[in-house]
Amino acid sequence: MADRLDSSHGSTRALPRAADAPLRLSILGATGSIGTSTLDLVGRNPDKYEVVALTAQCNVDRLAELAITHRAKVAVVGDETHYEALKARLSGTGIRAAAGAAAIEAAAEEPADCIMAAIVGAAGLRPTFAAARQGSRVALANKECLVSAGEIFTQHVHQNGAELLPVDSEHSAAFQAIGRTPAKSIEKIILTASGGPFRTFDKERLGRVTPEEALKHPNWSMGAKVTIDSATLMNKGLELIEAFHLFPVGPHQLEAIVHPQSVVHCLVMLEDGSVMAQLSQPDMRTPIALALAWPERLATPVSRLDLITLKTLSFEAPDTDRFPALAIAIEALHRGGAAPAVLNAANEIAVTAFLEKKIGFLEIARTVAACLEKAEARGLLKGVDTLDGVLAVDEEARRMARLLLPV
Ligand code: NAD
Ligand code: MG
Repeated sequence: MADRLDSSHGSTRALPRAADAPLRLSILGATGSIGTSTLDLVGRNPDKYEVVALTAQCNVDRLAELAITHRAKVAVVGDETHYEALKARLSGTGIRAAAGAAAIEAAAEEPADCIMAAIVGAAGLRPTFAAARQGSRVALANKECLVSAGEIFTQHVHQNGAELLPVDSEHSAAFQAIGRTPAKSIEKIILTASGGPFRTFDKERLGRVTPEEALKHPNWSMGAKVTIDSATLMNKGLELIEAFHLFPVGPHQLEAIVHPQSVVHCLVMLEDGSVMAQLSQPDMRTPIALALAWPERLATPVSRLDLITLKTLSFEAPDTDRFPALAIAIEALHRGGAAPAVLNAANEIAVTAFLEKKIGFLEIARTVAACLEKAEARGLLKGVDTLDGVLAVDEEARRMARLLLPV
């Protein structure tokens, strides 16, 4: 509990550099939605940042372009078959090229003041652990790391003297809303969910939705996986588990509420009856700026909130009958042990299968639930206490989930 975040931790830690020196920044998952938004802020503040390492899985053209634009020292592509192409694109620039999963981990360990961990999925676990090893700031977008390996990861961060700043908008909001409030005064943390593009659909209609429709999020522009997770509400379930590991509260003190405008990102209820909230436009550059600059602030071009134009902020209870993924994730949070790791792995497989049109939208949650049931029956949900143990559970759960899919 004591290791979890409150914003006073961040405010007291000094970054290991002169006050006016640029912040040395690496971005794992630089070509993605979070990576691109981070580099947008870097590009607007060239004197404030010095880009060290940028990584991507296979989009070599984009990676090379970003590395050249932002004068990175090293660019790493995860898929080794793209190494020659990356090397050729960077030839004569002085930027080092590297490839492979081990090279991504090495990039995470390149000396930096802040590492943005923005790889999607459990693939981000090893690199994010590597980033924490150098004892600098880890700006954490990769929620799967906390979902699958929460206790191990927070302990690892603590042992290495690293500083963890949440990038997920709801957790960034909670971090700010909690401030210096002592843990005992927090009654409840409520994360808001937009409800996704199918918020008002009945089950019959949900059974017919296509990946193209699911990828059209009403408020946020994000990578494919988190967009589908937002449509099923699994994202909010993953975020409740993430919040459990970040903040000093128990599972019963965490709730989700649907808020279609995505303006209020989190509500923190306190014992004196106060409710602290953070509001902003749904644009990830605001929480990214906080994670980069904390305890200072970084100006962003995000459009300013105009509550008079907006007029209405509405809230409703999530419907776990139509969106069972949320209830399944909450159950995994309460179950603990390896249940969240199995949940996450099965969900990654099911989301990919949905995107590939192998299963329908409603099958995503069914596959995850069936996989958890099988894992429980096989005694796979017992807690594990090493990263290798988590990755073994992750691999086994993926195998089990694949077997549940139609051939
Ligand atoms: P994205 O799909 O847009 O980008 C993912 C990045 O990871 C890319 O650079 C890709 O090349 C890299 N990548 C993918 N697979 C990889 C692998 N196997 N090995 C190494 N690198 C790999 O994803 P995103 O939307 O930017 O999300 C990144 C993370 O941030 C996710 O964990 C997501 O849940 C979280 N997050 C995203 C948002 C958002 O608005 N996009 C908001 C909150 C949290
Ligand atoms: Mg979020």
